[in-house]
Amino acid sequence: MLNMQKLKFEYRIISGYIIIGGIWIVFSDKLLNYFIREPDLLTRIQTFKGWFYVLITAILFYSLLKSHLVKLRKAEQKAINSDRLKTAFLQNISHEIRTPMNSIVGFSDLLKDKKTSDIERTEYLELIGKSSEQLLNIVNEVLDISLIETGNTSVAKKRVNLNNLINEIYSLYEPLIKDDISFSSVKGLSDPLSLILTDAYKVRQTLNNLINNAIKFTDYGQIKFGYNLVNNELEFFVEDTGIGINPDFHLEIFDRFHKVGPENIKIYEGVGLGLAICKGNIDLLKGRIWLESEAGKGSKFFFTIPYEPVWEDETIKIKKTESVKNIDELRILVAEDDEINYLYIKEIFRETGAGIIRAVNGKEAVEICLNNNNIDIVLIDIKMPVMNGYEAIKRIREFRPNLPIIAQTAFALSNEMLKAFNAGCNDYISKPFKKEQLLAMVSKYKPSDKQ
Ligand code: ADP
Repeated sequence: MLNMQKLKFEYRIISGYIIIGGIWIVFSDKLLNYFIREPDLLTRIQTFKGWFYVLITAILFYSLLKSHLVKLRKAEQKAINSDRLKTAFLQNISHEIRTPMNSIVGFSDLLKDKKTSDIERTEYLELIGKSSEQLLNIVNEVLDISLIETGNTSVAKKRVNLNNLINEIYSLYEPLIKDDISFSSVKGLSDPLSLILTDAYKVRQTLNNLINNAIKFTDYGQIKFGYNLVNNELEFFVEDTGIGINPDFHLEIFDRFHKVGPENIKIYEGVGLGLAICKGNIDLLKGRIWLESEAGKGSKFFFTIPYEPVWEDETIKIKKTESVKNIDELRILVAEDDEINYLYIKEIFRETGAGIIRAVNGKEAVEICLNNNNIDIVLIDIKMPVMNGYEAIKRIREFRPNLPIIAQTAFALSNEMLKAFNAGCNDYISKPFKKEQLLAMVSKYKPSDKQ
């Protein structure tokens, strides 16, 4: 049968016009003659018959055209937006990428120079590390904003202990705060009430971006962040005593690539994507984001998310995992197809004395687990040949339901994270990760935590 949806729009319109017209010509006279017997009335009605047809087809074509145009305009807007994003990307990013790249390339060359002293070498390595981090930030921000703006990011809600999240963020930033600044956090709910359902990745990223800005734009005074329960919504805030923002710019700073004042562009690094990402995240979480600030008087950023408490004990999941020994006694299965990444992980565990077994694909990882009861923990890459990480995790779960499995992947996206959790992993670490991050993650599965 002919599928009308598959026909191009113009053919659909014209064939509809011919079919309706044909039916009208064939049947209208017959119907009129059948129902109306009076010749005078029949003549009068026939005079209007043509007009009636024109009116009906006009209404029909109008509604068809309208729905078609709405679809086309939406597609056009999407194309314009993505074109704008591309142009803005090229204009803004190339400079931002070149700056850290330049220092990475430059200092790497200097490292090769035999005349470079050991002290200089350490200094150069530090600068290379800093620039690499800056570069990675830019790549992540661009990836995030592209996903948000093209509608390709989804909300992945899971149970989150908000107070733990605040504590983690506090400990992460505390060492980075300058001496002249006091840093504090506020937790508006007791621990059991702070167990909520939300997308922790997006909340954490939003807080991180706001705190990064507070640190960047504040030289002395205080930085405070946290949340309170207000009208059954969680209202987060990040407050600083920094340079502040003129109210004229309060709306536009949430636009991508927007920085306040040409003088700031030179002094403070940043692409101008942080707040656009925050806004994108909070829109997705069905919340609001705004600020109170004046130039020279500090800033206070707020955002809300719905309060969805979970009345369960989060420790249940952790208790279910098999108890693991100290790191030095561990037998770790590393499922990683990439040679360099494997060597990096092996190097991280070298000093700990842990035993490392390698699998080069998911299938091998499953087989090794099947044949070795003494594997204590699995560190598994998601993107692998033969059998990917998700599939391998699912299979391992069938015979080792409580074996701690940590997924590691280069996909820094929250839906990938959710997919890994759904497959059955206990934790997730995204590449690139630092030695301390991986060791801290593995240490979480030591026996002291699992009583
Ligand atoms: P950037 O990467 O430039 O920090 P953001 O989108 O995070 O990008 O911020 C956009 C602009 O908003 C900043 O360049 C700065 O001008 C202004 N801004 C953001 N947060 C603060 C703050 N806490 N204090 C002062 N100005 C801020």
